[in-house]
This record gives sequence, structure tokens and C-alpha cells, in this order.
Amino acid sequence: MENDNYFKLEFEAKNVNESFARGVVALFCTELEPSLSEINDIKTAVSEAVTNSVVHGYNNKGGKIVLEVKIINRTIDIVVTDFGVGISDIEMALQPFYTTKSDEEHSGMGFTLMDSFMNKLEVKKNTPSGLIVHMQKVIKE
Ligand code: ATP
Ligand code: MG
Repeated sequence: MENDNYFKLEFEAKNVNESFARGVVALFCTELEPSLSEINDIKTAVSEAVTNSVVHGYNNKGGKIVLEVKIINRTIDIVVTDFGVGISDIEMALQPFYTTKSDEEHSGMGFTLMDSFMNKLEVKKNTPSGLIVHMQKVIKE
């Protein structure tokens, strides 16, 4: 497809890079002419995934995050990978309000937001360690 496109980015797991990551994805999507609401959904989902890697995956101590974004026809396909501690019970972690950091202003709504703002959310273990968050959103014509 002439519309298909791809990028892959590796960056440090730092809080300042959360806005960088969501901004880069938003810019990359502009060729599909998404609505403001679609762009905001994607930015929120990317922020939540990257924040989770920074805060939970690496416990704010830094590490490597890989962001891969593809455009396939009108679908924006986003994969956020970290190599941190990972999650032993993914099904439980996906439940609304489930958090292991309730003391630090985390409400346990990150995955729920990703799921509701995107058309697809798949969370997998990374091997040997870490987490892979795969999301897709279809941009309307
Ligand atoms: P909020 O997103 O509302 O600030 P939260 O981050 O705790 O709160 P979720 O984003 O839904 O909520 O994540 C749920 C739980 O899953 C987290 O509390 C954490 O235990 C675990 N988790 C999420 N992402 C990762 C990750 N990349 N690595 C390790 N654990 C993770
Ligand atoms: Mg979160």
C-alpha cells in the first residue's frame, strides 16, 4: 500500500520522554488526517503505556523503551516495549482500578484508558523480562 509507513524509536525510560513519545506518534499520524479527538485518544494511550514502563517496569530508575509505530491502510499500530520487571498476572493488571502503586497517586486506570481509547489492546510478556503493549486504532475517513 502506498500509505503504509513505519518508524522505530529507542529512548530512555524517563518521565520527560512521555510527552516526546506521544508527540512523535501524533506527528507521524498526521498523514491520515485524524480528528482532534482521535489524536487525543492516541496521545493518551501512548502516554499511559510509556508512563507504565517508566514507573512500573523500571521503578523510575531508567531503562530502555522501544516504540514502534506502523500505518497500515487507515490503522495506526503502536507497540511499546520495555525490558523491566514485567507483570506476572496480566489479566489481573488489566482490571479497572487494579494498581500496585495506590500510594503514589496511581488510580489503576491506565490499561482501561488504553483499552477504551484504542480499537485493540494486547498486553504480552516480553522475554526474558519486561512488557509488550500492542495497540491499534483505525482512523476514520
Ligand atoms: P494509573 O495508570 O491510573 O496511574 P496504574 O499505572 O497503577 O495507575 P495501570 O496503568 O492500569 O494502572 O497498570 C496496572 C498495573 O499493572 C500497575 O499498577 C503495575 O502493577 C502493572 N504494570 C503496568 N504496566 C507495567 C509495566 N510496563 N511493567 C510492569 N508492570 C506494569
Ligand atoms: Mg498506568
